[in-house]
Amino acid sequence: MIGKITLVAPKETCIEGVVYKVKIGNKFYIGSTKMKLKIRANKHNAQIKNGSKSKFHTELRNNNIFKVDCQEIYRGTEYLDIENKLIYESLNDKNCLNMKVVRSTKERKRALNNKKAPCKLCDKVIMKKNMARHLRHMHNVSNFDLFSKKVII
Ligand SMILES: [Zn+2]
Repeated sequence: MIGKITLVAPKETCIEGVVYKVKIGNKFYIGSTKMKLKIRANKHNAQIKNGSKSKFHTELRNNNIFKVDCQEIYRGTEYLDIENKLIYESLNDKNCLNMKVVRSTKERKRALNNKKAPCKLCDKVIMKKNMARHLRHMHNVSNFDLFSKKVII
C-alpha cells in the first residue's frame, strides 16, 4: 500500500511539560512537571504536611503556607532544559529555594543509557547503550529482531 508517511519523533522528545515558579515573599522555587499544575501543587501541599525537609517545603511551613500556588512560566517539550537553565542561573541567589540543579534532558538520557541490564539471550549484564552491539556481535540478531520476537532461539 502506498500512502502518506508520517515521521514520528521518539516519544520522550515529544512530551510536553510545564516549568513553574512558586513565590514566597521575595523567595522563590522553580520546578517542572508533566502533570497538571493543580495536581503538582497538591503533591507539594501533601509534602509540606508530611514534614518534607527540603528547603522549599520548610520555608512554606515556616510561613504557614499549606497551599502552594504554582505559576506557569513555560510550557513545551524543552521544559527540562528550561528548568535546568533557570535553576542554574538562580543557585547563587539567596532567595532561591532550589537545592540543586536538575538534570537536563540529555543528562537524563545519558544516565539511562549507562544503566545496566541483563542480555535477554545470555543473561550477561551490560550497559544498555551497548546492548544493540552485543546482540549483533554475540548473537547475530538486531534489537529490532529481538523485540519484535521474530527470532527463533
Ligand atoms: Zn547476550
